[in-house]
Amino acid sequence: MLAEIPAGTSADVDRAVESAREAFEGWDAGPGERQSLLHEIADRIEAEREVFAKLETLDNGKPIREAQGDVAAAVDHFRYFAAATRHHEGITLPPDGTRSVRTVHEPFGVVGAITPWNFPLLITSWKLAPALAAGNAVVHKPAEQTPLTALKLADEIREVVPDGLVSVVPGYGTEAGEPLTKHDDVDKIAFTGSTPVGKQVMRNAADDVTDVTLELGGKNPVVVFPDADVRSAVRSAFLAIFYNKGETCSAGSRMFVHEDVYEEFTEALVETARDTEPGDPLLSETSFGPKVSKEQVDRTMAYVESARESGGRFRAGGNRVEEEPYADGCFVEPTVVEGLDHDSDPVQEEIFGPVLELFEWSDYDAMVERANDVDYGLTAGVMTEDLGRANDCARDLEAGTVWVNQYQDFPAGMPFGGYKQSGIGRETAFETVEEYTRTKAIDVSLR
Ligand code: NDP
Repeated sequence: MLAEIPAGTSADVDRAVESAREAFEGWDAGPGERQSLLHEIADRIEAEREVFAKLETLDNGKPIREAQGDVAAAVDHFRYFAAATRHHEGITLPPDGTRSVRTVHEPFGVVGAITPWNFPLLITSWKLAPALAAGNAVVHKPAEQTPLTALKLADEIREVVPDGLVSVVPGYGTEAGEPLTKHDDVDKIAFTGSTPVGKQVMRNAADDVTDVTLELGGKNPVVVFPDADVRSAVRSAFLAIFYNKGETCSAGSRMFVHEDVYEEFTEALVETARDTEPGDPLLSETSFGPKVSKEQVDRTMAYVESARESGGRFRAGGNRVEEEPYADGCFVEPTVVEGLDHDSDPVQEEIFGPVLELFEWSDYDAMVERANDVDYGLTAGVMTEDLGRANDCARDLEAGTVWVNQYQDFPAGMPFGGYKQSGIGRETAFETVEEYTRTKAIDVSLR
């Protein structure tokens, strides 16, 4: 066993929210002070980066190199939002001699943040940094499987913020998460997780008309055109689906490859998938780690079996890793499958594992229709040497982010969020700070 963590209850949520409210009422830090505070948090994460990375790998199973990348990105997000505190301005209407109108953005007060297990520290920083930049207090419920970096981060943060301004309530979704979403003294909920739970969160928040940001699931298409540089497209495709062992909301899990390059692309991708060895995630040479839990292995394998039963042809993988020393671990082989029916569950639903579905296309309009014909609209990829064509295709795809000739790139400042059932709101960007505020218009009579 790695650690024993208490499971918070609604009573703990009540205490945390009460402390957050008290801390918020007494916190009158201006933009400069908030900027310094966010930089100090970034400095502290940076100073402890190896500890954060190791905790993340132990907790989640992601390869240590990827965990180190997540920690560096978390630091960068705190620094980005530190800068944003200084540019959080309102508008002034042109004078008309009778009135003076301006707007101010005021913090909500108490924000409830709920995060998943796939990027525990990074997604926490996506919420905490803009919430604090805007001047809010935060109560955070991390995923039950991966609370360690959230607790470590809270340990660092409590050295720099007033008591109670940031609290973590670890525990289960129904016991700690749900009370947070229903709490009448929580002013905003920032949730990342699956679409079904996101809908429940929204329903709960609706009772008090509480503001919500929802970052939900994805079933993301990647389009490969006949003029794509196949080697580079395969590299991007590999990252798209197998990064973080397929446990990314942005996973490019449906790949539409033009018939002219289908076999060449598929063979190169399959070879890379077959050459990908599982390994101990704590070793720096490992690029493919275990899934987060046995439960998630079973979930992925249920989709693999369903794909097999509905006539899918497996070009690579399709099994748990049975070789020693990994047979008792949570490894699923990098899997590439073709021949699936567009309406089948594995094609329509988010698998959240290393399973890539391939489709061959020749007619552009029919391909785009299929690419868009899912409930989700989070991300997409386009591989082509022709940037005009890339631009047109990016416009045609229903997704909040479209990567061209690359995949899984998340620079601080680029808005991230979904179309359709992939969510509401944008994270990681300048506009995100505004999502943690309410706009007040002040209209003064000049007569
Ligand atoms: P879940 O939706 O199961 O859980 C997310 C969080 O919500 C967890 O902390 C969970 O607690 C909590 N939770 C569960 N039930 C409730 C409830 N009734 N009320 C309040 N909170 C609740 O998602 P996973 O953790 O399984 O994460 C994977 C999902 O997250 C995928 O669908 C993925 O696409 C999505 N995701 C989206 C991203 C985006 O930015 N769009 C980024 C990363 C992931 P507990 O741990 O106890 O289950």
